[in-house]
Amino acid sequence: MYLKQFSAQHYRNLQQLDVEFDPNVNIFIGQNAQGKTNLLEAIYFLALTRSHRTSNDKELLAFGQDYANITGHVYKSQVDLSLRVLLTKKGKKVWVNRIEQAKLSKYVGQLNAILFSPEDLELIKGAPSLRRRFMDQEFGQINAEYLYFAGKYRQVLQQKNNYLKQLAKGAARDPLFLDVLSDQLAGVAAEVVVRRFKFLTYLNQYAQDAYAHISPSGEKLTVKYRPSVKEVDKQDSVEEVYHKLLANFRKNKDSELYKGTTLNGPHRDDIEFELDGQDAHLYGSQGQQRTIALSIKLAEIKLVHHLTKEYPLLLLDDVMSELDHDRQSALLNYIHGKTQTFITTTDLAGISWEIIKKPKVYRINSGK
Ligand code: ATP
Ligand code: MG
Repeated sequence: MYLKQFSAQHYRNLQQLDVEFDPNVNIFIGQNAQGKTNLLEAIYFLALTRSHRTSNDKELLAFGQDYANITGHVYKSQVDLSLRVLLTKKGKKVWVNRIEQAKLSKYVGQLNAILFSPEDLELIKGAPSLRRRFMDQEFGQINAEYLYFAGKYRQVLQQKNNYLKQLAKGAARDPLFLDVLSDQLAGVAAEVVVRRFKFLTYLNQYAQDAYAHISPSGEKLTVKYRPSVKEVDKQDSVEEVYHKLLANFRKNKDSELYKGTTLNGPHRDDIEFELDGQDAHLYGSQGQQRTIALSIKLAEIKLVHHLTKEYPLLLLDDVMSELDHDRQSALLNYIHGKTQTFITTTDLAGISWEIIKKPKVYRINSGK
């Protein structure tokens, strides 16, 4: 798929932007604070209806404006689409081919985009919550069922935690109702866990392959899912996972009542990255961690393709200057001719121009 035409109004410092993109490589050159990241963020927002930088949508409205509007024309092999997101202080509305969609889940997934920025290093270095957000956001954009169950899980989890707090305060007294909530939670959690296993198994294979392509030193990357309920297994069916989670909730019932919160489940899961069997979070060098993060993003491209038969857009924010010539070349060879790519840079010299075939180059200045 590729994004042919794009326009944004009142999105951060993009007051009024209309552009035609190249189906292959688009490069945005500009000094700091001109709107390069804002532009990539706006494209990502058109795809996922959320930002990669903030969960507070109001920050996205241009200062002093009360709405932001983003539209795009997407060409796919099967269908052409026109997409629109309107953001106001009250929330957002979305359209596909000028028909308003009541549910965001009917919209997300029409356009797929993978964004890579220097902050993605945190995916390896940072807290587990970042890796869970990664799973929810990225698996959600390629699988509507995952999006649904992850949302449902958050909802039931909150309900159960509220009830645990009420029991602790003596404001509620019916422990049987707690069992009902735990049962419901285990059911939804099992749907999430089984899909995480499945997607991470693919991601592991593709990331291994991408890492081997980009890294010259030859160590082997392994990506592992670490569910917080250790008993669950990759081979388990939804039913089996459900029973194991439920058993875990029962076992922890007293401590949950004491602590007033749900101790285990998808909201406590993690992903582990290993290089030759060593935890890269603890032992990886900065360069190795960056290469892992990039490999994960490249693996996502393959995962999206595997599941949807379309290649997503690749948005590379400020990453070229951090890669040496050989890695840039390995990266571009890996994706070349498959995915529409958007590259930002402050510095012409940071890009090995001879390895990029016929890019379309834009200069960006004060959001224009
Ligand atoms: P760098 O090279 O430093 O990464 P950049 O070109 O990527 O720079 P952006 O992150 O896109 O810069 O931000 C450009 C400008 O957008 C900043 O100066 C910031 O003040 C401005 N900006 C951010 N949010 C808003 C907003 N809601 N309304 C108006 N302007 C905003
Ligand atoms: Mg930037």
